[in-house]
Amino acid sequence: MKNTGVVSVNHSERAHASLGASKARQWLACTPSIRLGEQYEEETSVYAREGTFMHELSELYLSYELKQMTKAQLNKKLKQMKQNKFYNSEIEQAVQIYVDVVTEKMNEARARSKDPLILIEQKVDFSPWVPEAFGTGDLILFSGNRLEIVDLKGGKGVKVSAVENPQMRLYALGAINNFGVLFDIDSILMTIVQPRLDNISTDEMQVDELLEWAEEVVKPRAELAFKGEGDFIAGEHCRFCKVKASCRARAEENLKLACMDFQKPPLLTDDEVVEVLTSIDQLLSWAKDVQEYAFAMAMNENKQWPGMKLVEGRGSRKYSDENAVIEVLTAAGYNSDVIYKKSINTITTLEKELGKKAFQELLGSLITKAPGKVKLVPEEDKRPEIKASPEADFQ
Ligand code: SF4
Repeated sequence: MKNTGVVSVNHSERAHASLGASKARQWLACTPSIRLGEQYEEETSVYAREGTFMHELSELYLSYELKQMTKAQLNKKLKQMKQNKFYNSEIEQAVQIYVDVVTEKMNEARARSKDPLILIEQKVDFSPWVPEAFGTGDLILFSGNRLEIVDLKGGKGVKVSAVENPQMRLYALGAINNFGVLFDIDSILMTIVQPRLDNISTDEMQVDELLEWAEEVVKPRAELAFKGEGDFIAGEHCRFCKVKASCRARAEENLKLACMDFQKPPLLTDDEVVEVLTSIDQLLSWAKDVQEYAFAMAMNENKQWPGMKLVEGRGSRKYSDENAVIEVLTAAGYNSDVIYKKSINTITTLEKELGKKAFQELLGSLITKAPGKVKLVPEEDKRPEIKASPEADFQ
C-alpha cells in the first residue's frame, strides 16, 4: 500500500468534530468550554480562508510529487489557483518550504522501507479516546517502525510548537487506530511546519507513552468535555474559545490579576511590579475581547448595555484643497510664514494663527470633516447618543 493521498478533499469543508483535535488544548484544560460555545456560530476568518488556500496549494504540489497528476495537469490547476485572491509570491514561497520538508520526509521514508504508507489530507478517527472525534492529518507517513505526522500552519501571528502539542498527538492516535495494525510502530515523530514564522518544530514519542497519555489524560477529560462537565479553567487556551469575551471564569481570573492582593509596604516591590507587568498582556487581551464583543453586539444587534450608549467619536479635519487655502490666505494678505512651515500648516496651527473667526471666514468652506469612529461610552458622556442599526453606514 502506498501513495494513497486523496487529492479531491475540499479543504474548506473539512468536517469538524465537536471535540476536534485543533481545539484539544482548550477542551483538555477547560472541559465544559466546547459545549458552552455551541450556542455561538462558527466564524470563518480571512486568516482561516488563507490557511485553507495554502493547504490546497501544497496538496497540488504534493499530488504531483506523488505522481498522481501529470505536469500538464499541475500547470493547468496552478494557473487557476494563481487567480485566487490569496495567491502571491510570499504564500507561494511559504508553501514551497512545507512541500520541501514533506518531500524530504517522503524520500527518507522510501529509503527506510520499500513499502511506506504515505497519506495526504487523511481523515483519521480517534474516537476510542475522544467520543465521536476525528480529524484530518496533512501528512501521515508510516515507514519501517516509525510513524510521522506533519502539519502545515499557515499563520504568522503566534508560533505553534509541536512539543507536547495535543493536536499532533491526537492525529497520531487516529493514525495508529486506523492503520497501526499494518505496521510494527514503536516511535512517532510529530512535526509542525509554520513557514511564515520560520518555525519548524518536532516532538518525538514512543507509542507506549502516547497510549498512556491517551488513556490517562485524554480519555477522562474527553468524557467530561463531551458531556459539557468539569471545571472552567482559564488560561492561554482561552484565546480561541468562542465564549472568551463573556466567560465568567476568564473574567474572574483577569479581575483577580487586576486586584492583586498586594501586601504592605505601601510602595510596590520590584517583584510586584514585575507581576503586574507580566499580567498586562493577558489583561489587555481579555479587556479588548470584552470591548469588541460589547461593541459588536451594540452595533450589529442593537444590544442596549445598561448605562452605555453608542456615540460618534471625534472626526478629524483636513483641507479639501490645499492650493485654494494658500490662494485665499495670500489674497487676504497673510505672508508665507503664516501659511507655510515646511508644508502647509495643520488646521490647528492655522486656526491659532488666524484666529477662529478669520479661519472660519477664509477657510471654513475648505475644511472637510470625516465622521468619527463610533464608540461605546458611559451614559454621562456629553456627546449625543446615536442610534445604531445593523444596516447603518457609519462610514
Ligand atoms: S474562555 Fe477560557 S475559561 Fe472560559 S470557557 Fe472558554 S476556555 Fe474555559
